[in-house]
Amino acid sequence: KSLKFWMTNLVEVKNLKKNYSSKEAVKNISFNIKENEILGLLGPNGSGKTTTIGMLLGLLKPTAGEIKIDNMDFEKNRIEILKKINFISPYIELPKKLTVKQNLTVYGKLYNIENLKERIQYLTDQLRLGELLDRVTGELSSGQKNRASLAKALINNPKVLFLDEPTASLDPEIGDFVRSFLESYKKRNKISILLASHNMSEVSRLCKSVLMMKNGLIIDQGTPEFLINKHGRKNLEEVFLKLSRSGNESS
Ligand code: ADP
Ligand code: MG
Repeated sequence: KSLKFWMTNLVEVKNLKKNYSSKEAVKNISFNIKENEILGLLGPNGSGKTTTIGMLLGLLKPTAGEIKIDNMDFEKNRIEILKKINFISPYIELPKKLTVKQNLTVYGKLYNIENLKERIQYLTDQLRLGELLDRVTGELSSGQKNRASLAKALINNPKVLFLDEPTASLDPEIGDFVRSFLESYKKRNKISILLASHNMSEVSRLCKSVLMMKNGLIIDQGTPEFLINKHGRKNLEEVFLKLSRSGNESS
């Protein structure tokens, strides 16, 4: 392995597996996320995306394999690594009874953020949260909650952000706001993002590189253009349909 490659991989996953009793949810996957890259994670329902992200967040213990983040082994450097990452997951919501501002303050304190007031102000401006700050989180619409979750996900200025279907429940306009926000945030901040999504135009727009999962395996990967050419299709949506419908040649 050359020094150059070692330097540019912020997340390294090797031979990762997860079994839920007898169910092999993630079978044996290896991939890297480069510094300052948005990597798309595609795959039909049940292909193992959320399980993979759960292991990368330290919420699920891998059955086998290795995860390194910022060149540190996850198992041995959990606390150090958790400071550098953050996430949006549909399964973990912000505490409902707190206001948005209280939520951001609590999370900011958990991460021990310096200049927390300024950080909250910055994210409030960027995500247009001004009118939401004093509202109770549980009473927000899903689009408003999503923006509050994004602010929480960025409160610690993470080096790596894990997004598990962040625009799944949003109407097209708010979905577009989130995509534009991610694009512009990424331009101004060094951040690596793993983006699990079923929205192919979102993935084509945001991701230089994608992983295609099926039945717990990575069955293909590359840039959207590479995959489109390789499979002789017009767009990523058609590649997705071809790969999800075909028999699983690679297993
Ligand atoms: P995806 O996010 O790609 O839809 P998941 O990672 O959620 O896929 O699920 C992968 C497989 O693991 C599915 O077959 C799912 O039913 C199974 N699975 C997920 N979570 C659990 C669990 N807690 N217990 C047992 N099986 C699970
Ligand atoms: Mg999922």
